[in-house]
Amino acid sequence: MRFDVVSIFPEYLAPLELSLIGKARTDGLLELIVHDLRSYTQDRHRTVDDTPYGGGAGMVMKPEPWAQALGDIAAASPATAAGRKPVLIVPSPAGEVFTQALAYELAEEEHLAFACGRYEGIDERVLEWAQEQYAVRPVSLGDYVLNGGEVAVLAMVEAIGRLIPGVVGNPDSLIEESHSDGLLEYPVYTKPSSWRDRDVPDVLLSGNHGKIAKFRREHQLRRTAARRPDLLDKLDVSNFSKTERNV
Ligand code: SAM
Repeated sequence: MRFDVVSIFPEYLAPLELSLIGKARTDGLLELIVHDLRSYTQDRHRTVDDTPYGGGAGMVMKPEPWAQALGDIAAASPATAAGRKPVLIVPSPAGEVFTQALAYELAEEEHLAFACGRYEGIDERVLEWAQEQYAVRPVSLGDYVLNGGEVAVLAMVEAIGRLIPGVVGNPDSLIEESHSDGLLEYPVYTKPSSWRDRDVPDVLLSGNHGKIAKFRREHQLRRTAARRPDLLDKLDVSNFSKTERNV
């Protein structure tokens, strides 16, 4: 799978050389290229922003450097070569919210490009123009405002990248995770079994797999109800047992 990231701060993406994503790159499971938007400018000052039409605070990113960068990336895309459109993710607080379901969907793509906005964002015409070559998706990390798209890209590349087969050593660890079945994960514990007067629940030491599964399921439900009741509203409770519905 290929990822291209365009930013005026390419160094911001350096953490993607570390840990599992860094190893996946070294192992050839994913290819990730970071592009400096300023290298696509034509003027001496390498200008990427200008004042907003209509007035108002802040600056807006100029369209032409983006067209040059995104045009080059689309031309080199394995998806384009195969007659398909690569996906262009435009991080934006005004986009659809990034979820685990979206991470799974995007992990199926062969090529994702990311356009990291700064200032007040990118000239809107770039998103319209890019639709000729890309499936364009404005995506938000959550309902708050960051200074730029780079932090959102770090989060999205990590969440998507870890779903690529082979990136996470034990694929089972992707199954029992928060959001994989619409619920939050159950609490987890490790050795020692007693720590600072706090004991691991007995059932987890019992070796009884049926009881452990029941305990974990119950705690998934309790935790989700306490911390994220909105998630329960989205689930089909008719699949729940009577005990589960009462938790
Ligand atoms: N004026 C924009 C608005 O109100 O929608 C916010 C611009 S923000 C200061 C600069 C850039 O940060 C955005 O273009 C986007 O790339 C990124 N950004 C900010 N918040 C984000 C979020 N919640 N999710 C994804 N990207 C975000």
